[in-house]
Parts: sequence; C-alpha cells; structure tokens
Amino acid sequence: MKDTLKHRGKRNQLAEILVTKGIEDKAVLAAIRAVPRHLFIDSSFEDHAYQDKAFPIDADQTISQPYTVAFQTSLLHVKPGDRILEIGTGSGYQTAVLLHLKARVYTVERQLSLFKKTSLFFKKMGYRPKKFLFGDGYKGMPEEAPFDGIIVTAGAPEVPKPLLAQLAIGGRLVIPVGVADQTMMVIRRSSERKFERQSCGAFRFVPLLEDKN
Ligand code: SAH
Repeated sequence: MKDTLKHRGKRNQLAEILVTKGIEDKAVLAAIRAVPRHLFIDSSFEDHAYQDKAFPIDADQTISQPYTVAFQTSLLHVKPGDRILEIGTGSGYQTAVLLHLKARVYTVERQLSLFKKTSLFFKKMGYRPKKFLFGDGYKGMPEEAPFDGIIVTAGAPEVPKPLLAQLAIGGRLVIPVGVADQTMMVIRRSSERKFERQSCGAFRFVPLLEDKN
C-alpha cells in the first residue's frame, strides 16, 4: 500500500481533467489531489485508478467516477466541521474526500462484505468517520440528525422521506433520483416546511436498495 510521487502526479492530472469538465471548487480539487484513489480499488487494477471512470469493487458495486464524486461534493457546499451523512459508503473514497474537507462524516453501507472490508481499510489508513453503520440508508441516521448535508451515492427511485426530515435548516440533500438513469437533485431545506429543489444533470448509478425487513 504505497502512495508515490508517480501517483501524486497522476492525481494532479486527474484534477486538471476535472477542471476542464467544469469542477471549480478549489477545496474539492485539493481533496482529489490528496486522496490516494488507487488504494481504494484492487491493487491489480491500480492503473485504472486515475482515469475519470467508475470501477467495479466488491459485491457488484462500483467506486463512483471521480467527476461524479467531485460534482456531488461541490453541490454539498461542505464547510469544515459540517455534519455530513453519506448513504452508500462502498469503497470509502467519497468518505475520504469528505474527511479531507474536514467534515464530520456519518456513513451507511448495506452490503456486509463491503462494510467489513471498508471498515478495516479505514482503520488501516487512519480515516475516522464519526460513525460507520451497517444498515439501510433509506432510513438515514435519525439518532445523529440534523445534518448540514446528506449525500446519496446510489440511484434512488424516489427521495426517501426520512432523509428530508434529517436535514438541518439550510442543509442540502444531494441525491441521484431515477431508476434506469438518474437526475442529480439538490434539495435545500430553507425552513422547517420548505424544500427548494434543483436538477443538476443526468447520471447513472448502481441502485439504492431498500431493505424490506
Ligand atoms: N461512494 C461509493 C459509491 C459506491 S456505489 C464509492 O465511491 O465507492 C453505491 C453504494 O451504495 C454501494 O456500496 C451499495 O452497496 C450502497 N447501497 C445501496 N443501497 C443502499 C442502502 N439502502 N443503504 C446503504 N447503502 C446502500
């Protein structure tokens, strides 16, 4: 598990590509330059780590495309110390980007194999989310609400109501909504009862699965 000058060079190139694709947020770009994405995927596929592409991880899931991670993170408007809930930990790459922005991160994963693998990886790397839960992200994390931001990294057929309820006033939910492909939605809670919605383009994610039990 090494991070070398060569890897850092590739990350700088990746950040430049994201700039050409419209990512402007300096703090987000700094996080992309800092987080060693190659360590989040199987080492035999290391060469793929700094291409702007999604990639398979365990349990038929994917590590999101760097552009998507950067775009969703920009939409969250993270400030240091913000309480951010992430649904769909997966490889932990998005989690690490949020931690680099000095957010207090709460994250949920429903695939046990990924939960175990990523828990060990976080310990090994010294990444410290405030809470890493094995469970159903549809329900959010009511015991830790309210959140300044909630990011969903799987395609949701509809916006889960518990997530809206767990947003702080002024907080934002960034969620891809749709079945076959998704529209990136930003939902800002402007008051107790008022939610402002904005559509931010088309994406394709693995599905957000609901636990029926
Ligand atoms: N942020 C991750 C994305 C992984 S893909 C990364 O970049 O690596 C989406 C993840 O959401 C998968 O790991 C999948 O298992 C998880 N997921 C799907 N439905 C979920 C649910 N209801 N609750 C929590 N996680 C869920």
